Amino acid sequence: MSTLITDSNELTHFTAVFSKHDLAAGLAPQLGCLEVEALAGLLRALGEPATADTCIREHATGDELGDAHYQGDTLEYLVPIDPQEDLQCDSCQ
Ligand SMILES: [Zn+2]
Repeated sequence: MSTLITDSNELTHFTAVFSKHDLAAGLAPQLGCLEVEALAGLLRALGEPATADTCIREHATGDELGDAHYQGDTLEYLVPIDPQEDLQCDSCQ
């Protein structure tokens, strides 16, 4: 594998294209865990850490139990119910 970068303009072009949020959000869930880590690493190396984080975050939404980025079940935040409101008691509130 060559470590010589022959055309930095292509790196700039890659960074410009792959740093777009919509592309990262659409592509990352389609990639495997190793692939998204490689893409995120490259984006970090190219100075796009926020896009790298977006890739990992969006990818994680598709991971399942046992996958590297599995986040567990994400439940909507539930607003606690005030039991005093159910009693409709003005003096209790
Ligand atoms: Zn993963």
